[in-house]
Amino acid sequence: ASALARAESLIGSIPDYPQPGVVFRDITPLLADAAALRATIDALLEPFAGGFDVVAGIEARGFLLAGAAAVAAGVGLVPIRKAGKLPRPAASVSYALEYGTAAIEMHDDLPRGTRVLLLDDVLATGGTLAAGRELVHALGSEVIGTAALLEIDVLGGRAALGDAPLHSLFHV
Ligand code: IMP
Repeated sequence: ASALARAESLIGSIPDYPQPGVVFRDITPLLADAAALRATIDALLEPFAGGFDVVAGIEARGFLLAGAAAVAAGVGLVPIRKAGKLPRPAASVSYALEYGTAAIEMHDDLPRGTRVLLLDDVLATGGTLAAGRELVHALGSEVIGTAALLEIDVLGGRAALGDAPLHSLFHV
């Protein structure tokens, strides 16, 4: 638990980034610390141990966690990418941002029924992870759980995620 407490203390808060009035949560100091990274990955996976076939990480910061998590869990990694980056046939889901919309995509080659653990760094409004869930479901696979390193509670993103278990390691 002390390694986790230390990991939490390494998450920075950067005022007025990327724009005035926004406090950006910066996980890079946590990622740079070997013990904090190890404890974080283990704790993110712990509730879902043995229950998933692949880890799906959302571009871009979700990738940083998903690679480590997949190796630690002994499963494969599926990237969920921003629109237009994947070379083969992919499904796409659009979602609302504060200004405008975005789309994320995933290759259409997972065996139907694959059990997916969905991973991202920060849960804010929940739009990104909700779109990730919709994408996995659209491709005939199952989201057995969703995990985020940090949940910004006041934004209420948890409500956007429906009934699949959500595990947020840290909260602000
Ligand atoms: P949401 O869709 O509003 O839940 O926003 C979550 C997405 O935006 C995630 O993919 C995060 O990487 C990114 N994000 C939102 N706020 C922050 C932050 O404070 N720090 C790092 N990433 C953030």
